[in-house]
Parts: sequence; C-alpha cells; structure tokens
Amino acid sequence: MEFEGWWLLAIPIIFGMGWVAARFDLRTLLSESRSLPSSYFRGLNFLLNEQPDKAIDAFIEVAKLAPETIELHFALGSLFRRRGETERAIRLHQNLLSREDLLPNDQAHALFELGHDFLKAGLLDRAEEAFSRLHIGNFSKAAQQSVLTIYQMEKEWQKAIDVAQQLTKQDFSISYRKEIAQFHCELAQEARQRKDMSTVAHELATALQVNPTNIRAILQQGDFLLSMGDAEGALRTLSHIEQQNPIYLGLAAKRMIQAYEALGRISEGIAVLRAALFRHPSDDLLEILYEKTKVLYGEAAALALIRESMQLVPSEKGMMKLLESHSLESTGGEFQSDLQLMSQLVCQRTKLLPRYVCSYCGFRARLFYWQCPSCNFWETYTPRRSSITASF
Ligand SMILES: [Zn+2]
Repeated sequence: MEFEGWWLLAIPIIFGMGWVAARFDLRTLLSESRSLPSSYFRGLNFLLNEQPDKAIDAFIEVAKLAPETIELHFALGSLFRRRGETERAIRLHQNLLSREDLLPNDQAHALFELGHDFLKAGLLDRAEEAFSRLHIGNFSKAAQQSVLTIYQMEKEWQKAIDVAQQLTKQDFSISYRKEIAQFHCELAQEARQRKDMSTVAHELATALQVNPTNIRAILQQGDFLLSMGDAEGALRTLSHIEQQNPIYLGLAAKRMIQAYEALGRISEGIAVLRAALFRHPSDDLLEILYEKTKVLYGEAAALALIRESMQLVPSEKGMMKLLESHSLESTGGEFQSDLQLMSQLVCQRTKLLPRYVCSYCGFRARLFYWQCPSCNFWETYTPRRSSITASF
C-alpha cells in the first residue's frame, strides 16, 4: 500500500515538470522568433505557397538584415549555383569570406562553396586555387576530390594520379585503383599519338600493375604489340580477355582477326572466334565474324553462322541480316516487297536503339566510352547492346 501511495504522489510532480519544460521551450522559441526579421516568415510563406522566386527575395532581405544567419547565406549560395546564377553565388560567398567575424569552419565552408561556384562557371583555374587552399579541416578531403575532378576535365592525367594516390593514403576505405589505371591508359594513349613507344609500354605495364583486371590496358597492349609487328604477342595478350571478362570479346575480336591475318592463320582465327561466340554470344562479335566469313567462305556460310547463333540468342542485328539477304534473293512480287519492308523496319529499329547505357547515370550513347561523358565515372558502360526498346 505504501509503494502505491508513492506513485500517486509522483504522477502530478512529473506532469508539473513537463508543463514547466514545455513553457520554457515555448518562451525560448517565441523570443527567438521575435528576433528574426518579418521577411523570414514572409519567405517561409512564399515557400509554402510554392512561389520560390519571391521566397528567395525575402530570404535575401533576411540575410542583409541579420548577417549572423550564416546557414541561410550558404543555403542561398548553393541555390543560386543550382539555378545557374553563378555570378550571384560567387558574390555571396566572396562577401562571406571578407567578413572578419566568421568562424574558421565557416570560412573553410565559404571557400569550398566558392570553389564549386567557379567550377560551375567553368573557371577551372580559380576553382583549383580555391580548393587547394583547403589543406586541412573538415572540407579538405572533399576539396581534394574536386581537384581530382578538375584535373580529369583538364586531362592532366599525371596530376590526377598524384591526387588520387594522396586520397588513397588518407583514407584506405576508398580505392582509386580503377581510376588510376585508367589515367595511365590515357597517358599511354597520348604517348602513342606522339609515337613515344617506350612510354606507351611503361604506362600500360603500370596500369596493369595497379589494376590487373583493366581490360582497356590489355586492349591497348594488343594494339601496341600489333603496331610493333609482334602479332604472336598481341594474340597471347588479347586471348586473356575471354577468361577475364568475356563481355569485352567484341572489342578484342577485330584486333585478334588482325593478328591472325598478320600470322597468315585467318581460318584458325575464325574458328577460334566462332567457338568463343557460341560460348559468349555478342552482337559485335557476330557482326565481325559475319563480315569475315562472307569474305573468306561466301554469303551462304556467313548466313549459316547467323542462323546458328540466332538459335542460341535471338538478335535484331542477325534478323536484319537474314531479312536483307532474303529480300535480295527473292524473285519479286508482293513477297519481295513485304520482305524489303520488314528489312527496312528492322534496320530502322536497330539504328534507333541506343547501344550503350551508363550503369550509373543512365546516359545513352551510340559510342562506347571508358568514361561516361555525362557523370564522368569510369567503366560504367558495358560493351553490350542495351535491352531498351525503341518505339516506332
Ligand atoms: Zn554516367
């Protein structure tokens, strides 16, 4: 009985304490809201009424009347930048940076935002300079990542390698292996253009050392060996692709055919690639084999190859080739015009199909890219036709 009595006394005390706490919070809130300019509430009201332009004007007024609202300045700055008003964003962040009462962390934040304003405005030198001033502190890692983006935009591959290596040293949880290997491939490509073959060999070896699964380096090494007259070596290198990642066989096939031709073993080459096609069906490989078989063994053998591969995996390209051939063979009349119509429609549809789709941002392209032109991520394209269907 004594125990229950304690509870009866405790309940009103707890309620009383809660009431006092609520009143205290309410008073704090009211006093804080009284200190905010009325334009702040006007801005909120415009936002709620879906009038963003009027809301921005009201918030700009708040930022002028109450300079201590730092977060509001940052919010406005990034809003201007997103709307493409980079000059306005730059002015706002430069004004913030010129203030002497700014705390060190807010100063670093303003500099980081200014760097992004310059980046958005295409002023890469000024963006790099702003990010480079952020050596230490909360924004240093993000600033270095932005510098890495700038070097890639400027195609400064060696500088990009240095920054990526620094970032890896700072944070072992993030790997830049894939990117660093790609940067070495870019350097190899540039060296090849200026015919500096020893640098090509060195860069490709480094790329494969950094990332042994980098298919681009293997393909480039195949090209390099072919250009040096080492077809046997090129074939040995390129034949690794089937074991490593067979979806890239289509990209290797042309080079392999070239090597077999240089060695005078083209029939063997066609037989090897034909067997690979049936193990790993691919439109690109089928197309290359069709053309080569037609030249070597004639149209009938090439069409037989298509029929055989279509039984395994249906392909629009294969169907187009068959229809084209039958419409040419046909003796005329309605049947021939029907075949020609079907052939034209399938041909149109095949042309409309986007060939490659970025797995990160969904950007569609008819060309294969190692770096997506839209999101700038590396190796996001699969060298395989997408299953997206085009509408007539
Ligand atoms: Zn992308």
